[in-house]
Amino acid sequence: MLDTNIPAWRRDNLYLRSAIDLPEREMSAAHARAKESLLAEIGSRSGLVLDPKVLTLGFARRVATYKRATLMFTDPARLVEIAEKAGGLQIVYAGKAHPQDEPGKALIQKVVEDAARISNNLLKVVYLENYAWDLGALLTAGVDVWINTPKRPYEASGTSGMKAALNGVPSLSILDGWWIEGCIEGVTGWAIEDGANDEEEAASLYKKLETAVVPLYLDAPEKWARLMRNTIAFNGSYFNTNRMVKQYTRNAYYPIKLLEKTKVEEEAFVG
Ligand SMILES: *Cc1c(COP(=O)(O)O)cnc(C)c1O
Repeated sequence: MLDTNIPAWRRDNLYLRSAIDLPEREMSAAHARAKESLLAEIGSRSGLVLDPKVLTLGFARRVATYKRATLMFTDPARLVEIAEKAGGLQIVYAGKAHPQDEPGKALIQKVVEDAARISNNLLKVVYLENYAWDLGALLTAGVDVWINTPKRPYEASGTSGMKAALNGVPSLSILDGWWIEGCIEGVTGWAIEDGANDEEEAASLYKKLETAVVPLYLDAPEKWARLMRNTIAFNGSYFNTNRMVKQYTRNAYYPIKLLEKTKVEEEAFVG
């Protein structure tokens, strides 16, 4: 879809800025295809049949304890209530822990157990095994909202949220790592607000889901499409390796102009 509408994006990612004006129907159709591919893969891996019309959240990353994979399960009754209001809610998890990270591995076990306990006919939670690049690509393109719940200030970056943004998938995340810069509230996604403890931050997550994400998804498909375009235009055009390497080169590796200017200024000062 991007190749058709913004072919120059492959040469220079800055052109993704033009995504602000993408034809909404084409973009929504491309997302629907990505969602179908993901749900087909989930079906073949787990046997679980998910509904392409239902709001689908993604959470996939290295399972380190600071990322708090179980934060969404803090108040299961509340999550079920939101699923009922949304006419269904699907949550897809994936991620491995380091082989020597025992607390991380225990956390995966807890997510799998909680998922089985909490799931019902409206709330479906699935944990996919063998998270790797191929599944990462399917997930960041195929879910509707990308979730990240790190404990501040431990998230260095959170690159999966950037991959989601390139696919027009907004984030609902703690303001840590890249999301401090990438979040424009209601425009590129939503912030989970800081709280004094996990319970308070989980409460903010539920509140944003209930009052911002679900109503927009259910009642305002045009506004949702605009949000997807914003996400590619603002964040896809900026959070990419093209821009990163350019800035490293100019600002850090070869800041030639800067050096020359400083020298001239020093000489002027000494003179
Ligand atoms: C993107 C990706 C990661 C890193 O995700 P973060 O959000 O930076 O934690 C790890 N593993 C795979 C397979 C990925 O695709």
